[in-house]
Amino acid sequence: MTAIERYLLSRRDLLRGAGGLSAYAVLPDLPSGGDVIRLRLLETSDLHMFIYDYDYYRDRPDPTLGFAKTAQLIAEARGQAPNCLLFDNGDTIQGNPLSDFVASGQSVPTDGVHPMFRVMNMLRYDAATLGNHEFNYGLDFLGKATAGAHFPILSANITWTDGRPYAPPFAILERDLIGRDGRRHRLKIGVIGFLPPQITVWDKARLQSRVETQDIVAAAERYVPALRRRCDLLIALCHSGIGTVVPGGRAENAALQLAAVRGIDAVFTGHSHRVFPGPDYAGIPGVDAERGTLAGIPAVMPGFWGSHLGVIDLNLQKQGTEWAVAGFSVEARPIYRRDGSKVVSLADDDQAVLTAAAPEHEAAKAYVGRPIGTFSAPVTSYFSFVADDASLALISQAQLSYVKPLLAGTEHASLPLLSAASAMKAGPAPDAYTDIAAGPVALRNIADLYTYPNLVTAVRVNGVQIREWLERSAAFFDRLDPTVSELQKLISGRHPAYNFDVIAGLTYAIDVTQPARYDQSGRFCDPTAWRVTDIRLEGRPLADDQEVIVVTNNYRAAGGGNFPDLNGANTILQGPDTNRDAIIAYVERMGTIDPKPLGVWRFVPPDHRLTATFESSPVGRSYLSAYPSIHYLAEAAGGLARYAIDLG
Ligand code: MN
Ligand code: MG
Repeated sequence: MTAIERYLLSRRDLLRGAGGLSAYAVLPDLPSGGDVIRLRLLETSDLHMFIYDYDYYRDRPDPTLGFAKTAQLIAEARGQAPNCLLFDNGDTIQGNPLSDFVASGQSVPTDGVHPMFRVMNMLRYDAATLGNHEFNYGLDFLGKATAGAHFPILSANITWTDGRPYAPPFAILERDLIGRDGRRHRLKIGVIGFLPPQITVWDKARLQSRVETQDIVAAAERYVPALRRRCDLLIALCHSGIGTVVPGGRAENAALQLAAVRGIDAVFTGHSHRVFPGPDYAGIPGVDAERGTLAGIPAVMPGFWGSHLGVIDLNLQKQGTEWAVAGFSVEARPIYRRDGSKVVSLADDDQAVLTAAAPEHEAAKAYVGRPIGTFSAPVTSYFSFVADDASLALISQAQLSYVKPLLAGTEHASLPLLSAASAMKAGPAPDAYTDIAAGPVALRNIADLYTYPNLVTAVRVNGVQIREWLERSAAFFDRLDPTVSELQKLISGRHPAYNFDVIAGLTYAIDVTQPARYDQSGRFCDPTAWRVTDIRLEGRPLADDQEVIVVTNNYRAAGGGNFPDLNGANTILQGPDTNRDAIIAYVERMGTIDPKPLGVWRFVPPDHRLTATFESSPVGRSYLSAYPSIHYLAEAAGGLARYAIDLG
């Protein structure tokens, strides 16, 4: 008997909620005749260690996030339904200063349990799956953390390099559920987990030669047929978003394709930090963004950082000896709503959750409050993706100062040393921007600037490869029509600004009236297209065969963001330290820093006046004096603001 099976047996008599028959009395649309069970499935996803409704970067409460609030929605949802199961969909233990503090080993909980799993145990989760960010602190830490979870943590598409599953691929939960007739019915509920196969690229430095990943749909096709025969119902926990098919397989966002695998009855999605059902996914073939189905199967995505609770209600009807889904409804319940620029909280904190994580929360607050230096000007990300900017300059200066001494005496020392940086925190929520005021700087501010625990990495590339790198970055912008005098969108959609790399040490211009050479996913799409012009190194045009060293992070160097020629092969240095630690060391050493742009890039001025619009936080308005070409236009949906930028 496996540990999972033992665990399942020990919980066989578990029965949730109360009310039984009375709950059925008020529920519509139940099929008539035969045995009927109403089963409610609940999902959290992408909690990223936000247990408290607290913004560690700004050092203040934030009602738009926090598992303590989601926990209250969980209690409420359980109170409304006699039969509930609760799942977590991954990206659970990484994502804020609390998670970094716990992973740093400086917090030693007396119960030996990772605080995220401590509070999830309290909420009696039934199962969870691994996300990509679980791997950011390495396998040893992950193993220790998950050991404290009182529920199975699954993943069907990751194996050790010898082929053994890294985690249980699936679990069969046996649950006594109360039917409409008031009787208990023992059901076997299969649960299977999936993660983006790209983790071996994104965390190559930590996973290489240890684990391998498989395509999500291929793994499902391998396990689902036999598993489904052993269960009454099969639920997929898919830490992956809703996207289109990628040639060659290994799609990052494969929830829609997974839903089409025969035998799966419901799909929990995540990873994209969006809400489903909802308008973000309207109009995609195979997706019903109002009803909440993927390939006809009920599916939900509950935002991020605890912002929503995913709820799938199933009506199960016994047909002969088999249970079948006879009806369903899907909902993502928010913990807050926006009323103009105001945030209205829709959930109270679960005090027991707060209390359970209080020791680590308080210690983490003190830890990140430690002063390390002084900035003589603000550092923000409100405009760092549309203008040459001080925040990316600071990241690059720190990266260069970290790597330079490490290259001394090596064959690479004589080559020009450049540095790539991008905005890690730039929406889409109005508070999700880097914002460091002038004055004393604490550790938390550097975590606000560099939010991911990436490792400093350097690659050796030539002039041709630099040109392609910049072209892929420039795909961030829409194409503008220079003959149109009305306002045009500079950035449509909500693609991440962390894929807009700015390479310090060069100067160049971006012509957004030209077509993009790459698409948003990094696919090469137009061999005749060039947007990046006048690339210069030390004032001279960059030669095709000029070799250079570029400092970046392990994510980018190994292929994250799908940048041309960045696949790990040209990595010449993999620092043991994170980029964030390099920035902290730089600020500590400099004492006082005067953040300013380095004059790296500009838009090519068009022949005629051309003004484009983009969205950012309304808070950016108070920093506009540093950006003469940008002005505020109006409020925008979701609490954002619309700005205009003059391109010439
Ligand atoms: Mn996530
Ligand atoms: Mg993820």
